[in-house]
Amino acid sequence: MEKGKMIYEGKAKQMFETENRNEIIVRFKDDATAFNAQKRGSFKLKGEMNNAITSLIYDYLGKKGINTHFIQKLNEREQLVKKVTIFPIEVVVRNYSAGSMAQRLGIEEGIKSPVTIFDLCYKNDALNDPLINDYHVLFLGLATQEELEEIYQLAEDINILLIDLFDKMNLRLVDFKIELGKTTDGKIVLADEISPDTCRLWDKDTLKKLDKDRFRRDLGEITEAYVEVYKRLLKALN
Ligand code: ADP
Ligand code: UDP
Repeated sequence: MEKGKMIYEGKAKQMFETENRNEIIVRFKDDATAFNAQKRGSFKLKGEMNNAITSLIYDYLGKKGINTHFIQKLNEREQLVKKVTIFPIEVVVRNYSAGSMAQRLGIEEGIKSPVTIFDLCYKNDALNDPLINDYHVLFLGLATQEELEEIYQLAEDINILLIDLFDKMNLRLVDFKIELGKTTDGKIVLADEISPDTCRLWDKDTLKKLDKDRFRRDLGEITEAYVEVYKRLLKALN
């Protein structure tokens, strides 16, 4: 696969053109940022682990009937995906209280929610990705009512499949973030990554955090945590 010119460099990934204008190569970097890039770092194997984990999870979700942008893993750091127009909305799905929601509501982390909670954020770095609701999405024209309904349904289906997969890995899926995009033929698909960067994953027995909170909160053993998730994923899928 010929890699063309770089069309985008984000905080964690780079995107490259290919000879097919509907496909791009995603390259996963070792860089990590948190708190809207105020905290920066880089740790060994992060790019490789996130590429490997995302590839396996997208393959799993695809086989379970979820439409995704994923085509194939190319090498340790790169994967080939369909180029999509990303909805500028981050969909956060929460099964337990944690992070910004726990802070905002003044509650402890780790409380199981009786319902699946969906939060929407406006993907806009200049505004620090603010929390928005359905009305704001319609007001800003980020998606139509029908698209939003499809996005929620996809998020719910993905949550059910991921809870089950992580359960097999003895991990609690506390919360996660997904992004959705539209292909050139108008289909809504899951895009971007699903990895310890975008999920909170706690060991079910010890409640040890095996995700990016180790970086955000200076807990150490970051690479080890990502490798552990990858190893458990390989085992669960085999
Ligand atoms: P950020 O842009 O927040 O710094 P990344 O470094 O992860 O984040 O960059 C990846 C960017 O590529 C994100 O903005 C994401 O929305 C976008 N993206 C993910 N998948 C696709 C895709 N299939 N087609 C086009 N853009 C994508
Ligand atoms: N998340 C993400 N990217 C973001 C913000 C959040 O992947 O830009 C993920 C985060 O890893 C967690 C979930 O979304 O799994 C919920 O995050 P939260 O809103 O609690 O924000 P945070 O505490 O990360 O600031």
